[in-house]
Amino acid sequence: MVNDNPKSKTTYRVAISGAGPAGLLLALKLAVQGISVAVIESGDEAALGHDWSDAVEKDALASAGFELPEVVSGRYAGRTVKHSEQDDNLFEPHRIEPLEIRSPDLSCTVAGGVEFRYITTDRKTLARRLVERARDAGVALFFRHRAEMLLGDTEGSLENIRVSGVRVSACDGSGTFDVSADVTVDATGIASRLRRSLAGAPALNRKFSGSELAYACRSVRRLDPGKAREDDLTDHYRYGAYRGYFWTHRHHEDSIDVGGGVREEPGRVDPADIIDEMIQNRPSITREVIRGGGGSVLVGRSPFSLVASGFSAVGDAAGQVIPTTGCGVGGAMTGALLAAGIIEAAVKRGDCSIKALWPVNYVWFSGRGSHFAALCAVKDLLQALSHEEISFLMKKGIMNRRTLSSAINGVFDPPGTGESLRAAGAGITRPGLLLKIARANRLGAKIFRHYRTYPDRWDPAAFVRWAETAGKLFQRVF
Ligand SMILES: Cc1cc2nc3c(=O)[nH]c(=O)nc-3n(C[C@H](O)[C@H](O)[C@H](O)COP(=O)(O)OP(=O)(O)OC[C@H]3O[C@@H](n4cnc5c(N)ncnc54)[C@H](O)[C@@H]3O)c2cc1C
Repeated sequence: MVNDNPKSKTTYRVAISGAGPAGLLLALKLAVQGISVAVIESGDEAALGHDWSDAVEKDALASAGFELPEVVSGRYAGRTVKHSEQDDNLFEPHRIEPLEIRSPDLSCTVAGGVEFRYITTDRKTLARRLVERARDAGVALFFRHRAEMLLGDTEGSLENIRVSGVRVSACDGSGTFDVSADVTVDATGIASRLRRSLAGAPALNRKFSGSELAYACRSVRRLDPGKAREDDLTDHYRYGAYRGYFWTHRHHEDSIDVGGGVREEPGRVDPADIIDEMIQNRPSITREVIRGGGGSVLVGRSPFSLVASGFSAVGDAAGQVIPTTGCGVGGAMTGALLAAGIIEAAVKRGDCSIKALWPVNYVWFSGRGSHFAALCAVKDLLQALSHEEISFLMKKGIMNRRTLSSAINGVFDPPGTGESLRAAGAGITRPGLLLKIARANRLGAKIFRHYRTYPDRWDPAAFVRWAETAGKLFQRVF
């Protein structure tokens, strides 16, 4: 029941649920353009972000207005770089370029490593900086408040939905109030709490499940620099291991991040056990855990629409994540920047209909989203192969610097004819395996091409046709 508290008549032009990188960046970009914005976040302000550093795409950070550090003697340096695990600077000093890729069975490494377009970024500091910028821009921040349900006409099909705001409850139980808004945004992350409640719109409300989810852990450990010289501490990914991947990233002289993630499924290995094994094999890594944790990671695809009248989704809630790594911070920020310009224009024109918000879909699906969608086919292939098969492909140079650089950086770039012929020669003893790869690349290419034909304006019939074909293509992926 809506109570009578002073917040009960709150009205904003835009109401965003979720203060992750997607919600905060979108909020501050709109607010600096003079648009009134509220952000509703169920967590505490102090608890925002992961208690560790994540690999975040450098381009996305730069586009979001973060100054990237300079490189001095092969390491990041300058005022934005951390001196220790505990300080509140943004970036870890270690520069990973190239990234060494080891085969899942650890029998070989990929020649030349891969291009690594990420920088290891402290998620607590990132959250804090985004909150500061949002607050400075005039965003109204409601921490410890939960978005409960969308308001307006929310029962119908995609064309009939008209969202007019969100019902919010205080997490301390002190009451409930409604926020009215021209545009209401779901930025609640993997749970996609608001988007999923739009029961009559399957193109919008789909739940992430099955092979679209992974489980990952990070453990930042104290390192004994005295023993480090004798240990194998090279930054690397053990890519394709246990239907996921594992890594070590040295942060500082005396600290290292050991982590990994695997496909979420019954009977999966616990990444913490593999991490333990990695630590045991490296005596310089001590038992002292400095930071770390774990959780569910999205490695799936966007629903076919991210918008309805008065509504949009961004970030994990919109499936804007690289499926071949589970890295979603860059996608969340890119998605937020893309949505910001379109929502701003719609609000200023006074038309927040699905037609006005449709460019969010068009720009995403025909651009970056087409790469991420096609990479779902590549990820699906990787998860279906054994350690031995992936290792064979790496040994023979069929999975190589070029193909893995694309996949790890979220770019779908399948081999051309020359490279396929070379692969056929190198893998001649395993025709069945080559066939599986060719099939995955063909399917990825079909998905990619189809996404490039995403309807450029809201036309219900054209969208239904597009979504039907896309649905059929994805039936062959998951
Ligand atoms: C162990 C682990 C390791 C990862 N490593 C990386 C990495 O190295 N690089 C990378 O790019 N990504 C990584 N990710 C993924 C990354 O964290 C997400 O892709 C990213 O945070 C998505 O941002 P977002 O803003 O969409 O959602 P989130 O960051 O999930 O933010 C959503 C916010 O919404 C709030 N919320 C949820 N429900 C409600 C509600 N009903 N009302 C109000 N608020 C609500 C939540 O409290 C949360 O603060 C990792 C994830 C995990 C779990």
